[in-house]
Amino acid sequence: MIRVTVWNEYVHEREYEGIRKNYPEGIHGCIAAFLEREEDISCRTATLDMPEHGLTEQVLAQTDVLIWWSHAKQEEVEDVIAERVCSHIRMGMGFIGLHSAHFSKVLRRILGTSMTLRWRHGDSEKLWCVNPAHPIARGIPACIDIPKEEMYGEPFGIPQPEELVFVGWFSGGEVFRSGVTFTRENGKIFYFQPGHEEHPVYHMPPIQQIITNAVRWAAPVNRLIRQPENMHVD
Ligand code: ZN
Repeated sequence: MIRVTVWNEYVHEREYEGIRKNYPEGIHGCIAAFLEREEDISCRTATLDMPEHGLTEQVLAQTDVLIWWSHAKQEEVEDVIAERVCSHIRMGMGFIGLHSAHFSKVLRRILGTSMTLRWRHGDSEKLWCVNPAHPIARGIPACIDIPKEEMYGEPFGIPQPEELVFVGWFSGGEVFRSGVTFTRENGKIFYFQPGHEEHPVYHMPPIQQIITNAVRWAAPVNRLIRQPENMHVD
């Protein structure tokens, strides 16, 4: 069983009626609900307002893959918690950053680059699969039409990705590296661009399939436990 924690700052859905209509249980509730339908996945959720943001050592030690959505309150994530998450990624916990989580403390810290991009509201997107043999692309069509999505455009301030799985094309003409993978020590990382909160993107079955595939891909093969005897000391 793959143990997933879906983390969401859970701010917009409580503040704006239109966004609450898209996600009455929160974005985390929507994602957890479709993942829970899978026999090999069990899910819990955590949000910013919980003690330690719901990401205690115990929760992270029992998490195989952490999914992260954040936007308005990136700076309110405590440094000690962001570092704790990064430490678990290095030991083998999988991490999936969604949409505006490109600018999360966790991704900026673990990837070490600016993570900046261009953006504009009000486009449509064609999400092209450019790596159909990749496990995250299993069962995914060559192109997914997203009727309304915020434009994210290049240049995207990421390190050179290890694998490029999806490229987004926007109706304004921009393109974006919309699905990219990295590894940091033992942990696998997938960043996936779709999912602006004003549009019900996470209700789309092919988007749900990509996130489900990414959970299976990111699940640890060997999870390390950081013991003093495993650490090199000069
Ligand atoms: Zn957005």
